[in-house]
Amino acid sequence: MVELLSHCLNRMFHNISASIEETKDHLSALDGVIGDADHGVTMSIGFQAVKAELSRRNVDAMAAEDLMNTAAMAFLNSVGASTGPLYATGMWRAAQALAGAADATPAIQAAIVKGIADGVRERGKGQRGDKTMLDAWIPAAEAGAAAVRRSESAEQMWREIIAAAEAGADATRSMVASKGRAARLGERALGHVDPGATSAVIILKAMALTFCGNAAGTAKSAERGTPRFRRAETHEEAGKGSRS
Ligand SMILES: [Mg+2]
Repeated sequence: MVELLSHCLNRMFHNISASIEETKDHLSALDGVIGDADHGVTMSIGFQAVKAELSRRNVDAMAAEDLMNTAAMAFLNSVGASTGPLYATGMWRAAQALAGAADATPAIQAAIVKGIADGVRERGKGQRGDKTMLDAWIPAAEAGAAAVRRSESAEQMWREIIAAAEAGADATRSMVASKGRAARLGERALGHVDPGATSAVIILKAMALTFCGNAAGTAKSAERGTPRFRRAETHEEAGKGSRS
């Protein structure tokens, strides 16, 4: 039986929320070095709100596009910081890419990643090299598009998406921020990874877990000592224990 796309997206948001809950202290600590130490809390509030809003809906009766738009509004309404409009715009772009889609094919999965990257880029008027979440999202979107052109399996595509996003996030260490609070730090931010790029990788790994049953690149992350992500097969399991 093929899983409904809206059901799959609901699982995706539960998996993202669970992964953010597991890593929010780490994300806030990273933000504390170059920002205001709220990034983990901000992301937690946003995805908890998405999860809560979706739990009030009959997701199986929703079109995938509507589900993604609902998630965008819930995230926007709960997150006041700049991250709110950035991710909400990303989710709106992803919703447009989902119009009429019924199955979570690799092309649709890649289109969600590209939609988020495009929306964040538009809203933030940013680009690669700004030391932001775009340093993870843009290479991830490019890797997804390239994988679709090569007709790769979902597993192979997600390995490449995660590898590209991790390399992009790592590269922010050697960047000086031009946007956000970190920009005021100038060269003092050198050597520190951007928390927004780090949470982007966490989100992408939760997406990989959702779409192909494993967090592509997890072995690589474990080697680096970053947290491993709990596997959640169903949205009931995914919802469990994700409150802190
Ligand atoms: Mg902050």
